[in-house]
Amino acid sequence: MSRVDLALLRDVFEAAGEPPYRAGQVWEWAARGAASYAAMTNVPAALRARLAAEVPFSTLDVEREERARDGTAKTLFRTRDGHPVEAVLMRYRDGRRSLCLSSQSGCPLTCTFCATGQMAFGRNLSASEILDQALHFRRIEAVDHAVFMGMGEPMLNLDAVVDAARLLADVGITNRRATVSTVGWLPGLRRFVDEVTEPIRLALSLHAPTDELRSELMPVNVRYPLADVLAECTRYFELRRRKVFVEYVMLGGVNDRVDQARALAALLDPKVFKVNLIPYNPTGMYAGSTRKAIAAFKDVLDAARLPATVRLTRGRDIAAACGQLAADPRPRARTHASA
Ligand code: SAH
Repeated sequence: MSRVDLALLRDVFEAAGEPPYRAGQVWEWAARGAASYAAMTNVPAALRARLAAEVPFSTLDVEREERARDGTAKTLFRTRDGHPVEAVLMRYRDGRRSLCLSSQSGCPLTCTFCATGQMAFGRNLSASEILDQALHFRRIEAVDHAVFMGMGEPMLNLDAVVDAARLLADVGITNRRATVSTVGWLPGLRRFVDEVTEPIRLALSLHAPTDELRSELMPVNVRYPLADVLAECTRYFELRRRKVFVEYVMLGGVNDRVDQARALAALLDPKVFKVNLIPYNPTGMYAGSTRKAIAAFKDVLDAARLPATVRLTRGRDIAAACGQLAADPRPRARTHASA
């Protein structure tokens, strides 16, 4: 239930001769994790029954839920027209509850290290379909952060992403605690910088310090080269005074050498960027960097005073970690052991 459905709700209320504030009442319940219309006790019972019959409670059906040893939960949803969508709830020891949301079913870009890029692209998700991922987890527990780092490229579906991010504030996730991650899709990124006034954070998936290597890993770089993308990120910083997170997935022998760390440090202004080194989650294509290589890489960034952290890996055992969302419909447990 979300914005689009809110419009539908208003129609139903109008037809029923109900006052307009009812729609707000219903949204408030949904945003606070109500499990159904039946739970909305300040809404007249007859109206609740009518809503249950006429307005689906969610735009998504839950197909499968998995829970990792570290507490991470992953849900596979289906849209009404049958497209798979995955989202993840990450639980941290300090109490933080962070959602990883999808903006598309699949992804049309073909980054070589990412499982989502290898599955078929479905379509953009609507704002409701994005928000309904969050509401699903909100019904399980209170949530306070969200990253648009699930399936898809948010800058290809910017309006729906921003509409959803605005409404997430009612769900408990303020704009400052919402982060949109991009490969550097310039048309969307430019609009994000120029038109979005909410203090939503920006993350850039960089992964290489040169155009040559980046184009190999991320074909999108041929179209929108590094210098242009970084200039746009700098503009974001100048307008908002918020640092841009740089994601850098550590691929053994590919982008993890010390000279590449130096090149990265030379490329990024420490005033503007903060680097997050991501241990590679296996998708079949590469070997992850060793711990030693990651530490040596980080040492170079530290020496250059470029802020850098190593991302905590979550949910790897249920393929819920970065780059592993592929909506594989097969159960991972071996149910048909062969003789
Ligand atoms: N399309 C957007 C949003 C997805 S974010 C973007 O790419 O920014 C998903 C993040 O996980 C990206 O930084 C992506 O590069 C990273 N990633 C993809 N595959 C990965 C893998 N196998 N291991 C670790 N990180 C990966």
